[in-house]
Amino acid sequence: MLKLIFLGSGGGRFATITQKRRTGGIRIISDQGGINMHIDPGPGALVYSLEMGLDPRKVRAIFVSHSHLDHSNDAEPLIEAMSEGTTRKRGVLVAARSVLKGNEVCESSITRYHQAMPERVIEAIAGESFDVGGINVTVCKAVHSDPDTVGFRFEAKEFGGFAYMPDSEYFSDISKFYSGLRLLILSVLRPSGQPWEGHMTTDDAIRIIEETRPEMALITHFGMQMILRGPEKEAELIERKTGVPIRAAFDGMRVILGEEILISGESRRGRDLSSFLDL
Ligand SMILES: [Zn+2]
Ligand SMILES: [Zn+2]
Repeated sequence: MLKLIFLGSGGGRFATITQKRRTGGIRIISDQGGINMHIDPGPGALVYSLEMGLDPRKVRAIFVSHSHLDHSNDAEPLIEAMSEGTTRKRGVLVAARSVLKGNEVCESSITRYHQAMPERVIEAIAGESFDVGGINVTVCKAVHSDPDTVGFRFEAKEFGGFAYMPDSEYFSDISKFYSGLRLLILSVLRPSGQPWEGHMTTDDAIRIIEETRPEMALITHFGMQMILRGPEKEAELIERKTGVPIRAAFDGMRVILGEEILISGESRRGRDLSSFLDL
């Protein structure tokens, strides 16, 4: 059984700088504790992790989809936590080329100093597969303003398969990467009728889910326009159009991927940040 904990459900510039929705990414932990990984640690990943009692020193793998701040900002502090305050080489960093090396439009977002701390650093290239802690990881295609952006697909016997699709627009061979899954997580920045190149709207999500047909889909990474429109309403619209169960993520949401897919957790919004883990 796997638990996916949403340390945020916001994305884009304005949700990030206001923290109208948190931007800490997703922590994934198995019930035995053997799996502990973090996807897209945006601003707040470290602080919200501590606040929610999720010890960042237990993280063993960090995935970064691209070199934008709302996905990569807290990768460095999480790497320091994973490497026991830089005292030991530990864990795996899986990151897009732009994140590690930079490209023509983005600076690298993790310093070489931090890239030397994990035991293994994997440059994520779409189509490649490898094992991380007993999970088969396949790097998936994405189409975004950072041309090196990638998604991630995770498969193991215990929980089947789930995937995270980061900022991306629709593309024609989408089902090649994201079909046959139990759970698909989509970064739906904008509501229906508000397209923006390189990003996903509710309308794109409908098309993607119709083509990939997961058992359930979660929408997250909401920008300000989506937040004002109401992500739950947009999730209902996608469900109505596709017939696939859809849930809108909220800050603090917990998803259990076992025999069934269960959702729990209460929104942490408004809670003060003083209840840190006893370190
Ligand atoms: Zn983003
Ligand atoms: Zn982006």
